[in-house]
Amino acid sequence: MLISPEPAARSSYRLSKSRYLSGLQCHKRLYLEIHAPGLATKPDAATQAILDMGTDLGELARRRFPGGRLVTAGYRQSQEALAQTSELVQDPTVPAIFEGAFQFNQVLIRVDVLERVGVNELGQPTWRLVEVKSSTKMKATHVEDLTIQSYVLEGIGLALVDICLMHVNTQYVFDGRHLDLDQLFGLRSLTETVRPRLPDVETRLAAMQTMLEGMSAPAIAPDEHCQSPYECPFWAHCTQEKPARWIYHLPGSSKTVVQLRELGVETIDDIPDHVALTPVQRRVKENREWVGEGLRAALEKIVYPVHHLDFETFMPAVPKFVDTRPYQVIPTQWSNHIEQLDGTLHHAEYLSRDGRDPREELAMTLLDSLGQEGSICVYSSYERSVLERLAEDFPSLRKALKRVIARLWDLHVVIRDHYYHPAFEGSYSIKAVLPAVVPSLSYEDLAIRDGGVAACEYARMVFVVSDWIEKAQIEEALLRYCERDTLAMVELRRELKKRAG
Ligand code: SF4
Repeated sequence: MLISPEPAARSSYRLSKSRYLSGLQCHKRLYLEIHAPGLATKPDAATQAILDMGTDLGELARRRFPGGRLVTAGYRQSQEALAQTSELVQDPTVPAIFEGAFQFNQVLIRVDVLERVGVNELGQPTWRLVEVKSSTKMKATHVEDLTIQSYVLEGIGLALVDICLMHVNTQYVFDGRHLDLDQLFGLRSLTETVRPRLPDVETRLAAMQTMLEGMSAPAIAPDEHCQSPYECPFWAHCTQEKPARWIYHLPGSSKTVVQLRELGVETIDDIPDHVALTPVQRRVKENREWVGEGLRAALEKIVYPVHHLDFETFMPAVPKFVDTRPYQVIPTQWSNHIEQLDGTLHHAEYLSRDGRDPREELAMTLLDSLGQEGSICVYSSYERSVLERLAEDFPSLRKALKRVIARLWDLHVVIRDHYYHPAFEGSYSIKAVLPAVVPSLSYEDLAIRDGGVAACEYARMVFVVSDWIEKAQIEEALLRYCERDTLAMVELRRELKKRAG
């Protein structure tokens, strides 16, 4: 079995690759993960969906290594996984091992792909380590990830000749028939970047082990390190005693917050008057409702009938439709609330339901609903970017879509420039603005309350779920979510008109 030679100073805590990476981010995080995991905030539905997408890609990437063998023992069956891996390593007919388990110096890792590439001068097999990531480019944390894996593999005596990152290549264009995995995945050798880091691993591990033996978590204060490279799940725990107007809640550049912290500023209310703040930061500091002089004029620029438009989209890592790229934004749904000058409201909507390329049908139904007259109220520049992409992709609709783009009217910009409410807490997202301005309307009663979840649920509805009752439930939840976004804009405009006098 490929476990050790363990070093002389045997440590008490077995670490996984992810725990080692947690320890690099923050010793306290690692301590809590091991001694008090219940204090962590569970990932929300959108984060979980991103994690699941990474797993799907890993499975697809294996097809690039024909004949490779999967270690079937699960993550909790480490002894079984180590034994299975050991057998595969010793079998020269196995060209690649997927999810192989290896352990050295109390670190247990699972390796996405370990490819057998040849034999060295000593007659030993040589290997290429491949880590599969769903991201589109290399990040610093990927190097650390490969470094700890290489440390373990070389620690148990495997001859690594190449250390690679496999990531998604966004330049690849799907022809609609055959998925070219060599094009979909880019393979980048990081051997030269990883090798100089290997000598530091031993020291880092020793420091982590010593820290873990402590009676309490190290006294590390939460600050910007908690968000990078990953948002720490103990943030809520570590910040529970911070004041409501803690300086970290100041929106805008984290540089300003760091500078203020260096000045000893603990809360937003303590910011000295001479500190230069952006207009938004200034309003957050003032912490009172503010109605700009130009609000009324800005609202009156709108032309009736007013359409209120919102798209929902999804961005499949593996392209599904002809002439699309990985992670290309595919609109799947729209909602339009149309308000006449007399206040009459009419709602129209579209949702693609069958997994076919929805873009052309979506664009045509939208053009029909938007007609030729009136402003089109949106919240953010996202709708504009989706329309521009549709205009590029469908030349026959280009002129009509360009005319639609010329009618866009951004409520987000109007609010940002002319209105503030303390309950915004520095955020101008519609999820923060709506409950502050229109408390009677929120997203709380909806099954889907977030665009990321909507994207994942759409993909599940059309590509995964076969039960028609479950499909119908998702469909209904998607329609109600998108409808709420556009109704929110109607009610926001109405309420702001009142406040503008
Ligand atoms: S929230 Fe910050 S300080 Fe607390 S454990 Fe996480 S990274 Fe460390």
